[in-house]
Amino acid sequence: MEYQRLIACHECDMLFRQPLHVRGRVATCSRCGASLTALQGAGAALDRVCALTLAALITFCIAQAFPVIGLRANGMTSEATLWGAVRSLWTGNMGVVAIMVFCSSILFPLIELLALLYLLVPLRFDRRPPHFDTTLRVVQLVRPWGMVEVFMLGVLVTIVKMVSIAEVIAGPGLFALAALTVMLGILAAFDPRALWAIGDESKSARVTRLRWSSVSGKRVCFARPERAVKRRSWAAVSARRAGLVGCHACGLVQTGQQAEVAARCSRCASVLHQRRPDSLTRTVSLLLAAAIAYIPANLLPIMHASSLGRSEDDTILGGVAYFWTSGDWPLAVVVFVASVLVPVLKLLVLTLLALAARRGSRWRARERASLYRIVERIGRWSMLDVFVVALTVALVHFGSFAVVTAGPAALAFAAVVVLTMLASHQFDPRLIWDHEDATQCFNRPTHGVAAAALRITKNRNS
Ligand SMILES: [Zn+2]
Ligand SMILES: [Zn+2]
Repeated sequence: MEYQRLIACHECDMLFRQPLHVRGRVATCSRCGASLTALQGAGAALDRVCALTLAALITFCIAQAFPVIGLRANGMTSEATLWGAVRSLWTGNMGVVAIMVFCSSILFPLIELLALLYLLVPLRFDRRPPHFDTTLRVVQLVRPWGMVEVFMLGVLVTIVKMVSIAEVIAGPGLFALAALTVMLGILAAFDPRALWAIGDESKSARVTRLRWSSVSGKRVCFARPERAVKRRSWAAVSARRAGLVGCHACGLVQTGQQAEVAARCSRCASVLHQRRPDSLTRTVSLLLAAAIAYIPANLLPIMHASSLGRSEDDTILGGVAYFWTSGDWPLAVVVFVASVLVPVLKLLVLTLLALAARRGSRWRARERASLYRIVERIGRWSMLDVFVVALTVALVHFGSFAVVTAGPAALAFAAVVVLTMLASHQFDPRLIWDHEDATQCFNRPTHGVAAAALRITKNRNS
C-alpha cells in the first residue's frame, strides 16, 4: 500500500506527514537536518530548470568543441581539449584513468543533461514521458559522478603550474567551461527527487493510474495513511518502527509487507529494503581497499617529465612542496587539501561512522549525520590531481624538447577517489539513528505523524 501523504527522511528514516501548501518551499528534517525534497508540489519552477538545462547542454557542446588551454614554448604550440586529455591518457597506457576522466568530465554530465531535458520538457506540458522511472533513476545515479566543477579547478591549477615554464593561452573552451561550471552549480541546487512527485501529478500519470485501478478492480490508496501510523505510535516514529519503508530511489513510503526480499517499489520499481543490504560490510571492505591504494598513490610518481634527455618523477607531496617553495602557497594549500587531506579525512570519518553504527552507539547522532553529509559533498574534489595530470599530459608533448606522461600513482589515486566515493554511497546513514530512541526527540504528541517537527523554509529555486 502506498502512503502518498507521508515522507520518510532519507537520512534518518523519521516519518513526517506531508504538509499542505509547500509549493516553492523546502522542508528540513528536524531530527537530522537533511533537506526533504520528496514533497508534492515542492518542485522548483520547471521553466527555469528546463531553460538552464538547455543552456548548459549548448555550453557543454561548445566546451567540448574548442581547446580549453594552449601552451607555447620554443616556437612550438600545443592545445588541450577535454577529449584530447582523455586521448592522451589512453595512448599513454593509462586506459583505466582515461575511462574515469572521460566518464566524470564528459559522459556523466552529458547523460545527466540529456536525461533531465528528456524529463523536463514533457513535464512542463503536464505530460509524463515514456520510461520516466528509468530515466529519472539514471539521473540520480550519474549525478554524484559528474565532476565538471572539479575539472574546472584542475584547469586553473594547470594554468598556474604551466605559467612559470611556458606561455599559456586561454582557449574558447575555457570560457565555455567556466560558464558551464556556474550553470551546473545552479542546477545542482535542483534535486531531481522532486521530479517523482511532479511526475505523479502530471496528467498522463493520472490517466495511467485510473486505467490501472479499473483493470485491477482495486482503488489506488491515497487515503489517510497517517491513521494507521497514529495507532501504532504516540509521538514521532521512524518508518521502520511504523512497519513502513521509504523507497531509496523515489522516496515513496510503502507498507512493510512490500518490503520483503525482492519486493519492488510500486512507483519506480526499485528493489525495496529497510536498510541497504550488507551496508557496513561493503563500506568497510571498500574503505580497506581505498586505504591500501592510498599508500602507492602517495609513494609512487604521479607524473614523469622528460626534457632534453633529462628525466624527472613527480609525486603528489612533491608537487605540493614545489608549489610551496616556489611561492604559490595558495595553490599548495588547495592541492594539499584536495589530494592529501580530503581522502584521509574521508577514510577516517567513514571508518568512525561504520564502527559507531556497528556498536549501536547513540553518541552525538546529529553531528555524525552532519559529518556524513560533509564527507559526501567533499569526496569528489580529490579528483583534482587526476584532472591536473590528464591536462598536463595532453599539453606537454613537444617531441624531444619536453614530454610529460602519467605515472602509476595516477591510477592508484583515481582508485582511492572512486573507492571512497563508493564506500560513502554504500553506507546507509539511517544506521546512525537506528539505536536512537525516537520518542526522546519529540516528547510532545502532535496531530498526525510528527507534523509539527517539519521545518519549512523558502526554496532557493523558487
Ligand atoms: Zn532526518
Ligand atoms: Zn520508488
